Amino acid sequence: MALAFVRLRPGIVGETKRTTHLVEVVAETGKLMFLPGFGYPTLCTLYLQPNSFDILDGVQGMPCDRCLLKSPSPEPPPALVLDEAS
Ligand SMILES: [Zn+2]
Repeated sequence: MALAFVRLRPGIVGETKRTTHLVEVVAETGKLMFLPGFGYPTLCTLYLQPNSFDILDGVQGMPCDRCLLKSPSPEPPPALVLDEAS
């Protein structure tokens, strides 16, 4: 499962709540998973609204504990891995 690091933009929530969440990347499209009517689901089951967050190259600031606990490995995997060497 490819994952992307996302963070809510300043002003959406207080600075202390701007943790780095993980959102699943759909392998077929290379885009973030999106549920129409809900938003972009984080692993910790928040639904982020379009244009409310930025996609990061890596963890910045505080990582979201609950997202990390639900990620498939102890270390968050690299974001946006689209091709697998065979
Ligand atoms: Zn989270």
